[in-house]
Amino acid sequence: MFEGYAGTSDSGFRDEVEAEEAFARGQFLAELGADDARPTLTGPAGAEAEARLAELARHTVFDGQVVTDEVRLRRILARHDTHMYPGTFVTCVYNPDRALCRTPGTSADKPVLADCQPLACRNTALTPANHQALAGHLAQLEEALSDGDRLAPYVRHRLQEQHRATAAFLARHELEPAE
Ligand code: SF4
Repeated sequence: MFEGYAGTSDSGFRDEVEAEEAFARGQFLAELGADDARPTLTGPAGAEAEARLAELARHTVFDGQVVTDEVRLRRILARHDTHMYPGTFVTCVYNPDRALCRTPGTSADKPVLADCQPLACRNTALTPANHQALAGHLAQLEEALSDGDRLAPYVRHRLQEQHRATAAFLARHELEPAE
């Protein structure tokens, strides 16, 4: 349905959707960069995430506030893309050379979010919300495994592997308190 609509629209519907998504992403990141009271992002790419947010803030934050004029903010964000992609479980700090979601022949312009490997990729950073979502996922795995004898061996093994990897990842990348 989406393809059909996109294919018949003269106005470049897909481009418009992508532009709006990029703006919403940029706005979210600009607010994150402006928030001095938040905990530091953690994860393998936590330091890189902080550096990119600081650079974005140099262009979007004045007197402690993100630019409120939407037209101006759109212009700034279009020029200063952080190439960061906030998600539920992780925030992708995209660097094509380290991206595990890329396969030969795919474009290096942006990550393939549908093929994300969040616990293994070095482009991963964690906001407090990401951390909370992963901890919630871990709790769900624990609940499922508490009745593990009722699961098929293959399923139980998969869940145990997921549990082990998620717990180890969270232990390696604990949240740092706000300064
Ligand atoms: S695997 Fe995930 S974290 Fe890594 S680059 Fe791809 S989308 Fe980003």
